[in-house]
Amino acid sequence: MMQDIEHLVIIGTGLIGGSVALALRKAGVAKRITGVGRRLENLQLAVKLGVIDDYSLDIGAAVTQADMVLVSVPVAASASVFQAMAATLPANAVVTDAGSSKQSVMAAANQYLPNPNRFVPAHPIAGTEESGAAAAFSELFEAHWCILTPDLHTDAEALERVHALWTVTGSKVIEMDAATHDEQLAAVSHLPHMAAFALVNAVRKSGGADPFQFAAGGFRDFTRIASSSPEMWRDIALCNRPALTLKLDALITELGVLRRAVDGGDTDLLLKEFSQARKARDSWLLKHGDAL
Ligand code: NAP
Repeated sequence: MMQDIEHLVIIGTGLIGGSVALALRKAGVAKRITGVGRRLENLQLAVKLGVIDDYSLDIGAAVTQADMVLVSVPVAASASVFQAMAATLPANAVVTDAGSSKQSVMAAANQYLPNPNRFVPAHPIAGTEESGAAAAFSELFEAHWCILTPDLHTDAEALERVHALWTVTGSKVIEMDAATHDEQLAAVSHLPHMAAFALVNAVRKSGGADPFQFAAGGFRDFTRIASSSPEMWRDIALCNRPALTLKLDALITELGVLRRAVDGGDTDLLLKEFSQARKARDSWLLKHGDAL
């Protein structure tokens, strides 16, 4: 049973922050929800849509009565957000986040939060390519993983409250260390986004009056995530640099194998590479498809 949240402040009232607000509202566990952001029109829309009760453009002023704060901004903005709340955050408030990379956010929390042991890092593995409060929906997290990356200093009571919060959203909550998170998510989330952006750019630059004219379902499926927020993905790429660089190297190696096989007309190698990939993808879908 989750302890009620008296005053939840959500810094970054976009797809993820807004969806957490809607899920907690549906469960009736948050008495007051204040949204914080940069653009007035997004916050006004969030009130109109019933996502939040009220809003502020001032992070420091917004958190003075908070017992729970969710930071849901592009990851590179986390440090300035923590800095802005440091002087006015109540000592017993619990802070969590939704950032897609964890080590950089934890370093920022340790540097700027007055009580970093009450910060419980989180990453819900759910999303869409859309942004802003208008895209938020309460079911976003249902049956999806939410990874918490506490460390040895994380306060046990804060961890319990954050665990309960994400569970109420419908997430399957799991804990792991931040380095493992960053390495694994670089492979299955960050790398596919880089590949989608690169593929669209390769076609865009390929010449002709309209290089996209005959693109069909396969192109649409593969590149859906290239419609994601450029600001958010710039931040993820920069904040998970070491792990993502290694995964990009691995992808370049694989593309090199295919390039040589295509160029050299190596039938056996092409069949082997495609068959292994299909087998791996099919067994992943069989094992985990229900949770997608
Ligand atoms: P989003 O829809 O673009 O929302 C981000 C919000 O952050 C916007 O409302 C923006 O406000 C606000 N913001 C940006 N910089 C800020 C700052 N310096 N101070 C205060 N507010 C600021 O993005 P999102 O998809 O919800 O992503 C939020 C976080 O969740 C990111 O860290 C992302 O890595 C993570 N995440 C995303 C997904 C996904 O699929 N989208 C999945 C899991 C985790 P304005 O609109 O007013 O500018």
